[in-house]
Amino acid sequence: MKIADTILDLIGNTPLVKLHKVTEGVSATVLVKLEYLNPGGSAKDRIATRIIDAAERDGRLKPGGTIVEPTSGNTGVGLALVAQQRGYKCVFVLPDKVGEDKRNVLTAYGAEIVVTPTSVAPDDPESYYSVSDRLAREIPGAFKPNQYSNPNGPLSHYESTGPEIWRDTDATVTHFVAGVGTGGTITGTGRYLREVSNDAVRIIGADPEGSVYSGGTGRPYLVEGVGEDFWPGAYDPAVPHEIIAVSDADSFAMTRRLALEEGILVGGSSGMAVVAALRAAKDLPADAVVVVLLPDGGRGYLGKIFNDGWMRSYGFSNAPAGHTVADLLH
Ligand code: PMP
Repeated sequence: MKIADTILDLIGNTPLVKLHKVTEGVSATVLVKLEYLNPGGSAKDRIATRIIDAAERDGRLKPGGTIVEPTSGNTGVGLALVAQQRGYKCVFVLPDKVGEDKRNVLTAYGAEIVVTPTSVAPDDPESYYSVSDRLAREIPGAFKPNQYSNPNGPLSHYESTGPEIWRDTDATVTHFVAGVGTGGTITGTGRYLREVSNDAVRIIGADPEGSVYSGGTGRPYLVEGVGEDFWPGAYDPAVPHEIIAVSDADSFAMTRRLALEEGILVGGSSGMAVVAALRAAKDLPADAVVVVLLPDGGRGYLGKIFNDGWMRSYGFSNAPAGHTVADLLH
């Protein structure tokens, strides 16, 4: 029998799959690691487990406690899932620009949400940083994970994502590529792969054009979940050998191609990471093995990247499209 005891036992051990179409002209093998196959739909299930385990161990989270975090996205889902299974409550603070679908995912898992205005400065008492700090102080038994500085984020990738890649490629991986948000994925996975290979694996970060990791100031970009306007504690700049900046247009065009040509429906930060990987792989020999981590699935972006009207409204007109019925009739 092959039965998981609880949904949490299905976190991690995500598969690697080879790319065939978007890699045309590249001799190296390019493999993608599908983090959307985690139960909560993203790589953030890994950090949620490790962060909650550690808080239980060091007594910061006690039975019946409440997790408070400013997050609208994948980290919220991961925390809500693990918290629910372990009997904790969750309160997530999110800005009002966050769409209804994203709010409903969090409440579906049993989390409470507090919505704050988007158009206030970070130090305003109404901002989502201020409100989450206040709730963490005032709710008895509250624990604030703070994914941007919690060392258990990178550690979860050091202990799971890195070893899985090494094991599943039979120690043949030569390059690892991941987008950088909090920096946890690249720091933890990259550190493990450098150590286990005696520094033979090259670590490459992918970053939206304008973000600090590739020398920007935090200029706005549309790809979600990656890039920052500050340097988080979860990121160790000594781990990546190189950072490649990718435009929104290139990220979104590749995100569309992955769905259309490879059958892989993922988010915009995945498209961004694949663009960076293909640039890095361009001149590599045939025995190179490039592993690219794809953080989440595409269902959360159907109204944006996969919506022609939204794409056109931002001037991304060259996104590849499927065949029209008229094409097929000719
Ligand atoms: N892509 C998406 C969609 C994300 O939610 C995140 C997490 N912020 C990342 C990429 C980047 O991962 P990390 O925070 O580990 O750098």
